[in-house]
Parts: sequence; C-alpha cells; structure tokens
Amino acid sequence: MTILIKDCAAITMSTPLVRRGVSIAIAEGRITKISSDSNLFVSERFDKVMDGKNKLALPGFVNAHTHLPMVLLRGYADDQNLQRWLAEEIWPAEKKLTEEDVYWASLVGIAEMLRSGTTTFSDMYFFMDAVAQAVKESGMRALLAYGVIAPQPGAKADQELKITEDFLKRWHGQANGRIRVAAASHAPYTCCDEVWRCAKSLAIQYNTLIHTHLQETRTEVDSSLKAFGRTPTERLEALGVFEAPTLAAHGVHLRDSDLEILKRQDVRLAHCPTSNLKLGSGIATVSKWRQAQLKVGIGTDGAASNNNLDMLEETRLAALLAKTNDPTALPASEALEMATLGGARALDFNDVGLLEEGRRADIALFDMQGVHWVPGFNPVSDLIYAAASADVETVIVNGQILMEQREIKSFDEEKAKARVHQLRAKYQKENSKN
Ligand SMILES: [Zn+2]
Repeated sequence: MTILIKDCAAITMSTPLVRRGVSIAIAEGRITKISSDSNLFVSERFDKVMDGKNKLALPGFVNAHTHLPMVLLRGYADDQNLQRWLAEEIWPAEKKLTEEDVYWASLVGIAEMLRSGTTTFSDMYFFMDAVAQAVKESGMRALLAYGVIAPQPGAKADQELKITEDFLKRWHGQANGRIRVAAASHAPYTCCDEVWRCAKSLAIQYNTLIHTHLQETRTEVDSSLKAFGRTPTERLEALGVFEAPTLAAHGVHLRDSDLEILKRQDVRLAHCPTSNLKLGSGIATVSKWRQAQLKVGIGTDGAASNNNLDMLEETRLAALLAKTNDPTALPASEALEMATLGGARALDFNDVGLLEEGRRADIALFDMQGVHWVPGFNPVSDLIYAAASADVETVIVNGQILMEQREIKSFDEEKAKARVHQLRAKYQKENSKN
C-alpha cells in the first residue's frame, strides 16, 4: 500500500526535530520521502492520501515493558506491595488462564495501545502463542517473551526453557519481521542460576535479547545480598548473563556500582514509573541513567499494576517525576526520545523510532485541533505536557493503517471487548462477586 500524509507537522526524533508543513510518502512498509516541497509528490499516485492539516506525526510510541494480557486483571487487585500483590492475588488468578483468554485480552490490550499511539511493545507473559497470534493479526510490532519462572533446577525448569525455545523457533522473525522473540527469565528472584545460564545461551543462539525485571524493590536487593552476597545486577554479571543483550525493567533500587555494571555491559533499562509508584516500589533515578548514557525506554508494565497502557501518560509522568529536585533533569524532548527512539533501540528494533526516509513507517498521527494545543508554540512541549492520548487519530505500523479516524481497521475491537467483559465472571474473586 502507498500512502501520502499531506502537509502535516512532524516530530522526527532526527534533525531537525520539528518540521512543519511537510508531506510524508510511504511505500512497502517504509517512509520513502519526507519533504516540504509538495510539488515533489504531484506526479506520484498513492493508494491513500491523508490530509495532514492540523495533524502532528511522530514515530509511534515504543512500550518497552508490559504484560499485555494482564488487561484481564485490570482493577482486580490494587493498593498492595509487589510481593503480596503477586503471591496472593495475581499468581493464583493466573492459574485460571487459558490460551483463548490470553488471545482476547491481547487484542483488547493492542486496541488500547493503538488508541494511545503505541506502535511497538515488549511483552512478557504466558500462552505467548496467543499473544503472537494477536500481534500478527492486528499488524502491531512486538518483542515477545515467555516469562520463565523456575526457582530450582530440575524438570520444571527444563520444561520452562523448552517452552521458551519452542516459542523462539515458531515466532522469532515472523509476520514480516514485525515479531521478534526474546528469552525471558522473569526476575533474578524467580529464576535459579542454571536457568539464567540457559536463557543467556538461548538468547545468543537465536541472536536476540533477554528480557527481565531487575531490582524493582528494596526487598529484592536485600534478599539477594543475603542469599548470594551480591546485588541481583552483580549476580547476573557474575553468571555471565549480560554476554547476551539484556532489557531490564524497573531498576528502581540500583546502586551506583550496579549502574556502572549496566553501563559496562550495555544493559538496556525500561522505566515504568506508574507501576513503581502504585506498588509502592519507589522512584527510579532516571536522570542518573541518562547521565550514564544507558539505553533507556519507557514501559507501562501490565494493566493490573498501572492500570492502563497509555504511553503518553507514562512519558509525562517520567518527565515530571525526574524533576523532583531539578527541573532540567529530563526535558520534554528527552522524555519523548525515551518513549520512541530510545525504546526502539532498547528492544533492538533498529529501523523504527525515527521519521526518516528509509525507516519503517510506524507513525502516530495526533489531531491538534483540541483547545489544549492552542496557541502551538512548541509541538514537543504541547505533546508531552498538554496533549491527551484521545488526540491520537490515525496509527500506521509497517506502512499499514491499523487505526484511521479513531476506528481500528485490522480486527474487531468490539468483539474482543465483549469477550473480555464476559471473562470477568470467571476471574472474579469469590468474596467480591457483585
Ligand atoms: Zn513487569
């Protein structure tokens, strides 16, 4: 399909950062031309021409860490710390999961992400074939991982690693390269040394990443020091895990010495401020990560701990939280970089995250006619500090229009919503039926 977005404003994440009155031509999944000279396009025929007047184009958001099917458990258990929330609420509820439930929840999650301008996400969960199927059908781009939980070596750990490798074999590079698969050890505290070594070998063998959670809570760090005499970061380095590219979520309780290790080992971090605040885990020192020039993305985490998948909201919170003592700590443009290009680099999607000729055509088009866009001095400032995700009007991934004029085009959103509404009865807690 060929598309021309005519005469829009654009935040390119390249140089210059902001352009006005440009037209963007798309063919075969890529941006073929960006120019303010509209005469350039007169002789060309396009399957679709969109009027870009009063519209702002940007590279779609990259949600660097989520658990997509957890939309099933949105509002299921709130206002608790991570350990209790996981062990007493979430893990028991997840025992009821089926492949079909995960599929429908994934479609609902994808609809929510498209509606807030996300075009790529990094996921870790169970029944990942169903998530991959939803990604394939919806047209999204994703780094997917089966979340291995195996505190002891043995048959259970072997089985978890086999699921990981089978999933890698089936889906890595599928859907025209829109789907990549990572090896995921859920966290240092849920996986034994043997599992970490095997996950690293798989990641290297399949030329992909490891996706994990790292130093999310103080308790996690204290327990690791007690059990291993090392922080989780030190333990993973000693195990050689970082020989594989690694994407680590949270990092709320990283010591300066941990940061040095992460920098030396080129570990990428996913900052999930809402989830960290809601679970009482704390506030990550993102400005230090930036000073250390780490690759940093922003993630919503799952909808059971956020409780939405809105990357604009997440990015605004990241920009504001970083300013606790210093308003210059994370300017709007840098927060936006983390939410787009930074996330793409953290996930190893190296041709997305920029509006440049030759890059993949992953674009979110915002409508700037709302009153909160007036008078329009600086589109980056307006986007990060004033816009609403409901302003997202059209979303293109890999040159395909997945949402147009706020209507999802690639799957039946209403059907998916209805199925997940129906599933509420199955997951409802016995003592809270209403
Ligand atoms: Zn998570």
